[in-house]
Amino acid sequence: MNTKNVKAFGTAAPDAPLKPLNIQRREVTPNDVEIEILFCGICHSDLHTARNEWHGTVYPAVLGHEIVGKVTRVGNAVTKFHVGDLAGVGCMVDSCRVCDSCREGLEQYCEEGNIQTYNGADKHLGMQTFGGYSESIVVDAHFALRIPENLDLAATAPLLCAGITTYSPLKHWGIGPGKRVGVVGIGGLGHMGVKLAKAMGAHVVVFTTSVAKQADAQRLGAHEVVLSTDEQQMEQQRGRLDFILDTVSASHDINGYLSLLKRDGTLTLVGAPEHPLPVAAFSVIPARKSLAGSTIGGIAETQEMLDFCGEHNITSDIELIDIRGINEAYERLLKGDVHYRFVIDMASLRN
Ligand code: NAP
Ligand code: ZN
Ligand code: ZN
Repeated sequence: MNTKNVKAFGTAAPDAPLKPLNIQRREVTPNDVEIEILFCGICHSDLHTARNEWHGTVYPAVLGHEIVGKVTRVGNAVTKFHVGDLAGVGCMVDSCRVCDSCREGLEQYCEEGNIQTYNGADKHLGMQTFGGYSESIVVDAHFALRIPENLDLAATAPLLCAGITTYSPLKHWGIGPGKRVGVVGIGGLGHMGVKLAKAMGAHVVVFTTSVAKQADAQRLGAHEVVLSTDEQQMEQQRGRLDFILDTVSASHDINGYLSLLKRDGTLTLVGAPEHPLPVAAFSVIPARKSLAGSTIGGIAETQEMLDFCGEHNITSDIELIDIRGINEAYERLLKGDVHYRFVIDMASLRN
């Protein structure tokens, strides 16, 4: 298969900094689109993968799955996009298309495993997939999303992962008016969770470890803000929440959060810390509580989320960076020092 050489930024080992490198992209096949990448968000999953915290990272690794840009070429069977259209790519670039999950539009739960945008098994080139810290990407048009024209493009990039990862569980667990929703951890995912839950009509309670984010959480749309290190403030929320979305990227005590749920409430993990989180049986037994998980969303639901954000004028709060600042951004992400998503201006890779 013919390939094209493109510039990228990646890492060669778990403890190595990210640096410029070249990767191969396939030539456009009949169902593909080629996208010139204009902006790419930095998700904490990029950092977990770069540092092999989830194990199984294949090096060199090129991360990035919050991709927006312009369509530069389309395969001859593609009707969904034309050259010049805006397009986005999120966390997956393919799936088996025939299992029950795929047929239901839940490609993220493909029974064969969805093919991740980076560190997945590339069906075409037989190597690992490479993500959005690169000049361009070639992707099956089914896995590319249409981008609302009214939103700021750089601030739209994080919707492709942080947006859908929070939208999907909020929808699945029926969040809307009359529901009290807790969002734990105000980083990339958490701040989108606050905006989306508020737009869905819920009462939103933010839980943060960062004193500095307390005031900001209200600006983001929170009705109440709890400093989670303050026992008294935590105690005041006991038994009051219908649903908790836990976006924390590191080890933390989820038993404390389970105690904040009402009877029959659910705590859903979207944050994926490196180490297991201990759960006491008596955190869930007495009030029939549920502990659940959720990953991204299907392609149809991702499009629905983007259209919802277009209608409600919702984007991410971002700090736009030059790609040469990426290692520093990773260090700040590790410290929770992010307001609230780093987005790479990919023009900085081209110069
Ligand atoms: P992020 O921007 O780094 O936000 C994580 C937030 O968690 C931090 O801002 C901080 O919020 C809080 N936090 C960090 N360390 C903590 C600690 N030791 N104790 C308590 N709170 C802590 O990360 P993100 O990009 O939103 O991603 C969050 C997690 O979701 C990551 O594990 C990522 O891999 C995962 N993820 C999962 C999916 C999925 O499909 N399920 C998709 C994307 C990402 P405060 O400062 O407010 O406390
Ligand atoms: Zn992500
Ligand atoms: Zn499938």
